[in-house]
Amino acid sequence: MTNVPTFQNYIDGEWCASLTGATFDNLNPADTRDVVGRFQASSQDDAHAAVRAAAVAFPAWKRQTPGARAKILLDAAAYLEQNAARFGEELTREEGKQKALAKDEFMRAAQTLRYYAIEAQSYGGETFPSDDAASLVYTVREPLGVVTVISPWNFPVSIPARKIAPALICGNTVVFKPASDAPLSGLRLAEAFVEAGIPKGVLNFVTGSASAVGPVLVGAREVRAVSFTGSTSAGEQIHRAASLSTRTQMELGGKNPLIVLDAGDIDLAVDLTIKGGFSLAGQACTGTSRVLVAREIRAAFVERLAAKTAALKVGSGMQPDIDIGPLATAGQLRTVLDYIETGKREATLVCGGEQLSDGDFAHGYFVTPTIFTDVPRDARIAREEIFGPVIAVIDVDDYDDAIAVANDSEYGLAAALVTRDAKLMHRFANDIEAGTVKINRTTTGNLVNAPFGGLKRSSTATFRESGRDGLEFYLQTKTVYRGI
Ligand code: NAP
Repeated sequence: MTNVPTFQNYIDGEWCASLTGATFDNLNPADTRDVVGRFQASSQDDAHAAVRAAAVAFPAWKRQTPGARAKILLDAAAYLEQNAARFGEELTREEGKQKALAKDEFMRAAQTLRYYAIEAQSYGGETFPSDDAASLVYTVREPLGVVTVISPWNFPVSIPARKIAPALICGNTVVFKPASDAPLSGLRLAEAFVEAGIPKGVLNFVTGSASAVGPVLVGAREVRAVSFTGSTSAGEQIHRAASLSTRTQMELGGKNPLIVLDAGDIDLAVDLTIKGGFSLAGQACTGTSRVLVAREIRAAFVERLAAKTAALKVGSGMQPDIDIGPLATAGQLRTVLDYIETGKREATLVCGGEQLSDGDFAHGYFVTPTIFTDVPRDARIAREEIFGPVIAVIDVDDYDDAIAVANDSEYGLAAALVTRDAKLMHRFANDIEAGTVKINRTTTGNLVNAPFGGLKRSSTATFRESGRDGLEFYLQTKTVYRGI
């Protein structure tokens, strides 16, 4: 193993090694012989240093003009755009997604920074009529202080970008911990702010395991808010660990349904299922994982879905012509294969269900796209988040039955209906328990300028991310009574 680059933390304006000097390696999931980089295995002390630096930097950053803060976001966006192709290849190597998608993710992060640079210059307070004619009553909205950002490996740039950009533009200071399975792309995001001239301490970047740095990033006295995206179990743990004076924003798991009821909608539903269920090898929080199909069209739907699925090409994300890359980690591979075994006991395997391990696949985490049918409603593969290229087809009687099955879930992240019936479209938007409602669209995908978040155990019931709503988490309100 030669020439493995070592990457550092960024704390208080300096790139630095962890205090213990310990490191960990990150491997390419398409070929684990390829070590992408060596990263700092930070300790609690490193995390404390980052939080302290952010606390010290806060008063001056809070006073900084919105225009000056916006300039840093715009310059960081330009840096990401200029380097998107190179950084995208690194992202493919560390996480597995296709090169074109990886480059797009950096472009999307840049778009997010540009959006917040402008949008955040127009938030304001309110004035209130007062019974006391000699007083002026108004609200001011101000940053919270130190915010920690904890992100997952599946969108290691665009997700932290949609947290860090609104946090910084509102005048908060940030400690950012990326997922240990995709730290390099997060580092490139931090580097963009450094290159843009962000003042020392305003953004700090710390790699390391959740168990080592997590308790400090969530529990340190100075931390005013934690914005987390990841699994529901970790999110609930963090939410419980946070103190009364620490805000939390948790974007968590899903078990997202797509509903199709009419024979005329089968072709579109098949395409949307494949795109929504198998892109990123099924590792999108909003990925389609349940398809609820009217009983009388189920055979035709499954036949067409299986034919198209069997034609999908699995391979390294570096190859331009593949449809499905590797799973991101050894743990992901184990989990997905376990669920496939469970599925074989619970339902009927229609296609896929295999690990690929010969030839080019020998050193990677590859699984063929998998479809189960005859899936009982209470089956584990019908109810639990698998986070892999596995789709459960569930029979339903009609629209009402489909809604009942769709809503009988602890999750409520995204849901889709395929229909040409305008009345049903409106009913669906009202009836479905999901934060993101799609009609004739994939369950995946969302805009930087529209709110995003889930219901039930898919999110905290507090603040949305993205769009104008995404600013609210990073601002607090004071009410001022001023005698004239
Ligand atoms: P994860 O294991 O929960 O980890 C997410 C991040 O949290 C990582 O940086 C992890 O650090 C850290 N972490 C875990 N436990 C922690 C704790 N107790 N305290 C502090 N930090 C902690 O999730 P993942 O496997 O990376 O991501 C997959 C999950 O994310 C899926 O459930 C998916 O649905 C969800 N997701 C949701 C959304 C959304 O917007 N709703 C978007 C994308 C993904 P380490 O890496 O060091 O363990």
